[in-house]
Amino acid sequence: MKIAVLSGKGGTGKTTVSASLAYSLHNSQYVDCDVEEPNGNIFLKASLTEKEAVMVLNPVVNDDLCTGCGACQQACQFNAIAVINKKVMIFDNICHSCGACKIACPTGAISEVPREVGIIESNSSHTFMHGKLNLNEPLTIPVILQLRKKMNKYNHVIIDSAPGASCTVVSTIEDCDYCVLVTEPTPFGLHDLKIAIDLVKQLKLPFGVVVNKAMDSDTSIQVFCKEQNIDVLMELPYSKEIAKNYSKGILPVQYSNHYKDEFIKLLATIKERTS
Ligand code: SF4
Ligand code: SF4
Repeated sequence: MKIAVLSGKGGTGKTTVSASLAYSLHNSQYVDCDVEEPNGNIFLKASLTEKEAVMVLNPVVNDDLCTGCGACQQACQFNAIAVINKKVMIFDNICHSCGACKIACPTGAISEVPREVGIIESNSSHTFMHGKLNLNEPLTIPVILQLRKKMNKYNHVIIDSAPGASCTVVSTIEDCDYCVLVTEPTPFGLHDLKIAIDLVKQLKLPFGVVVNKAMDSDTSIQVFCKEQNIDVLMELPYSKEIAKNYSKGILPVQYSNHYKDEFIKLLATIKERTS
């Protein structure tokens, strides 16, 4: 079962929830797909002994064969090629490695060379994996797709998605069995939760909400969810103890059996909702 944990914006407790859930379950795999800023291992502290480069293919032009006809520029849907004064310029950072320019070139001037865009690191048992995008690299999808190929080995795959509703998030969650939307009781939290809800509804994925930093003085999220008939799966209280431990890289489930039980119950609730 693949469970994606996401949020409309960063900093709502997405990693706390996903890492705590993975930590509390036997036979689970934690996959950090927040590839621009993977931070699950601050808490789970896996020994990252395995590394694998994520490569894409980028076009290169043989000037001796190029006539400057411009067919490659016309074929590129991503504006990653410009032909100026019959000279071809390729912008690797926005190339999507689709191969259309190579097919379109009438003289066979285009070939492809591999380029590293990121890395996948995991422990030896693959119970922990994360993807890391190279610095200044905008192409997240190849890293997500390579991570996805390595999922499925374990009973429960807990996926820590990037925040927001970008194509990176869509690519991360689209084949998941359930989505946990993490939010906090602030006006921004509610606003961003609505964005995340729109996304999972469009993808027709079952979902429920976890309220992080829940407090009696603000129940706006709970009220909204009740009105919309949306499941609130769990509430993690606003707590100085949780915040203090978090700042030291310690999850609530790593020092409290109470919270561990709560996360085990969270999985049971998700299973009930998906059965
Ligand atoms: S399509 Fe081929 S020949 Fe034409 S400009 Fe591009 S690389 Fe050169
Ligand atoms: S491989 Fe695709 S995206 Fe990249 S330059 Fe060629 S046509 Fe454009």
